[in-house]
Amino acid sequence: MRRRFPLPLERVRGGDGAAPPRAALQRPQRMVQGAATDAARQRVPVGLGLDSAAVRTRMVARLRQLGIDDERVLAALAQVERHRFVDSALANQAYEDTSLPIGFGQTISKPSVVGQMLQTLLQDDASRRPTASVANAKVAARDAPPLDRVLEIGTGCGYQAALLACLARQVVSIERVGALAERARANLADAQVRNVHVIHGDGRLGAAASGPFDAIVSAAGGDKLPEAWLAQLAVGGRLVAPGAEVRAGVQELVVVDRHPQGVTRRLAGEVYFVPLKSGAE
Ligand code: SAH
Repeated sequence: MRRRFPLPLERVRGGDGAAPPRAALQRPQRMVQGAATDAARQRVPVGLGLDSAAVRTRMVARLRQLGIDDERVLAALAQVERHRFVDSALANQAYEDTSLPIGFGQTISKPSVVGQMLQTLLQDDASRRPTASVANAKVAARDAPPLDRVLEIGTGCGYQAALLACLARQVVSIERVGALAERARANLADAQVRNVHVIHGDGRLGAAASGPFDAIVSAAGGDKLPEAWLAQLAVGGRLVAPGAEVRAGVQELVVVDRHPQGVTRRLAGEVYFVPLKSGAE
């Protein structure tokens, strides 16, 4: 089947590390940052219908129209309650296709961008694995998630990690901002997600002790892919990450596949994510 990705740039831009939408910025930022607001953050507003599956079903229908057609990704997007990962003051915007501030100058990516990243990660997964025939992989897919071990760089609030948790047996996610790592842990626990391990540290180093990974996905980009990511990518594995900025506010989305014979690298569209920074804070 012909895939419709990459999405046109204007459809996916701004859903990443780019400046949050103006409407979101006009809301009280005090609610977004700081431990003192945590109690308020936990109180998910009632009466907005956000707990209803229908609100996510509608979001998924819109994402389908934008070209996301991997049923496994759509099922994860329908399942994970995005409003639990954003500040309660922004919860009523949680199912719009928009990025939202999560504090510390960072944003939760917009659902279409997350969907595109995850779909790219899974695309042709059966044919990439050297060990499993397509038929075997289909049988296995009925009982097991499509991915085994996944590394995510840039946990943020933990939303994408929660989606990955639906698609993988084990997720390791690294966040350089300590307070965000803590918040992501709380959000994931709140959402009853148990197969994500959040590490506070510099994601450029990967997580060698937990690897190799059959998927690596980064929510932060830089010019060069860190060597550690390539070293920790299993044979049959795929890495999806924002690469170099090709023009102002536009990065190429880089896809690297590791085969028994080596790696192949291709570009799969244009995105814009926050920079991959060094060190942890
Ligand atoms: N996937 C996230 C989006 C987070 S935005 C979500 O669903 O909310 C990107 C994140 O990458 C930010 O939280 C930022 O702090 C983090 N980041 C940037 N450089 C990093 C690095 N070197 N290691 C780990 N995290 C990093």
